[in-house]
Amino acid sequence: MIKVQNITKRFGDFPALHGIDLEIQDGEFVALLGPSGSGKTTLLRIIAGLEFQDTGEVFFNGNDVSRLKVADRQVGFVFQQYALFRHMTVAENVAFGLTVKKRRERPSKAAIRERADELLRLVQLDGLGKRYPGQLSGGQRQRVALARALAIEPKLLLLDEPFGALDAKVRKDLRRWLRDLHKQMGLTSIFVTHDQEEALELADRVVVMDHGKIEQVGTPEEIYMNPQTPFVSHFVGE
Ligand code: ADP
Repeated sequence: MIKVQNITKRFGDFPALHGIDLEIQDGEFVALLGPSGSGKTTLLRIIAGLEFQDTGEVFFNGNDVSRLKVADRQVGFVFQQYALFRHMTVAENVAFGLTVKKRRERPSKAAIRERADELLRLVQLDGLGKRYPGQLSGGQRQRVALARALAIEPKLLLLDEPFGALDAKVRKDLRRWLRDLHKQMGLTSIFVTHDQEEALELADRVVVMDHGKIEQVGTPEEIYMNPQTPFVSHFVGE
């Protein structure tokens, strides 16, 4: 479904990505794992259309989307920092993705309200639509961010360290919950993390990056049993 071909990206003189090739199948849950500064976020942002590569192409279902902007790629995006609008209620935050649609495609106000309620049920926050983000816990806020990302009915969900700011217990619960949601919604998901345990637990396939290159790709078992980068072996058995 997603094909990334020979992607390079420099920031000034600094080469952030060197010729990345990667294919992701429909329905897969892929983790991009690597130390800080290895290029994970840059690759994710290029796939989303939030950033443009210097060379190479990105294909969605065989179509070259390399020059399409983020709004034209139909992807859902969740960041580490919740990036919710503090002055909007939870329901308004969730509905935001729908209200910015082009006038022609925009649903009626009643339909938007109904859809926001549906999404809040999906992320198990029914009844909290009238609250403001400041009145929710960190884990709840991140579920609101996820509901907002899902509002546009993306096929592809991109998550950049979404649980990074949360404590260990909440992270563990949210991982299991995200896995279930991914399956239930038939999503294709790419999850950026520097946490090996998180990557191995969540993903169908792990892509290990370092210094702007892909160092290893495999199932969690393959990566765990036979790590080929110091970054991963460093963590094994800890
Ligand atoms: P990761 O997500 O693995 O931590 P990033 O993709 O964020 O890595 O960053 C890769 C490298 O590119 C880092 O050295 C980072 O400092 C650099 N970089 C990322 N974005 C920018 C930018 N907008 N301007 C300059 N350098 C950047």
